[in-house]
Amino acid sequence: MTPTMKSALFNREPNDKPYLISGPCSAETEEQVLDTCQRLAATGKVQALRAGIWKPRTKPGLFEGVGTKGLPWLKRASELTGLPIAVEVATAKHVEDCLAFGVDILWVGARTTGNPFSVQEIANALRGVNVPVLVKNPIHPELELWIGAVERLQKAGLEQVGLIHRGFSSYGNTDFRNAPMWHLPIEMRRRLPELPLLCDPSHICGRRDTLAAVAQQALNLGFDGTMIESHQNPDAAWSDAKQQITPEVLRDLIEGLVWRH
Ligand code: PEP
Ligand code: MN
Repeated sequence: MTPTMKSALFNREPNDKPYLISGPCSAETEEQVLDTCQRLAATGKVQALRAGIWKPRTKPGLFEGVGTKGLPWLKRASELTGLPIAVEVATAKHVEDCLAFGVDILWVGARTTGNPFSVQEIANALRGVNVPVLVKNPIHPELELWIGAVERLQKAGLEQVGLIHRGFSSYGNTDFRNAPMWHLPIEMRRRLPELPLLCDPSHICGRRDTLAAVAQQALNLGFDGTMIESHQNPDAAWSDAKQQITPEVLRDLIEGLVWRH
């Protein structure tokens, strides 16, 4: 992307179809990334590809991501499909590595948004760079931290900052992996009306059968689009297996959504 160009997410007309980012929770192998991404592109529904390279796992000993060796796989997926790529960053080094590989869109994960030191470090590493950054809500329902993260990035000069609602953690079993608490993203939209707002049904639901209902609810509430995880073989995924769907199931899900009112 040239320095003055705006990502399509930040250049939307009111009647544009919802923006969709999709790809695996984690990049696992080059074959998995390329197959998933090419099948996603073939659906014609996706505007950007995603994959986690560095994974923030709750406990040690789980798959923590392939690291920088996955970036060339994503770059190749982008070249083959013509679609921009999005990657989660949690440190200044992640930012440097992504920029070196020409990653088109960065996102700040829920665990990082809740940590002002980390967000400031990311903002400092992005000073003077025109790259879109999407900020997920913090894990707990604290809107001021979410807004604070946006402000840190904007104060570093970033003009393309957007929001991703991925639900909020609560103790005990609920119907959701992370409760949507819809009033909170609605309040965010009221406070920051200029920022694109996406919904991440995958991390809200934590399962496949409720993804469509949550995506539909987001569109009903005027969200600009969704980020939904997709995998070539979801049951075999190395992270978030229960909530991932194949590109073809994603196509059907998107076709079932009503978005023009
Ligand atoms: C992810 O998008 O794979 C992820 C780790 O999400 P979150 O930060 O919302 O938990
Ligand atoms: Mn995930």
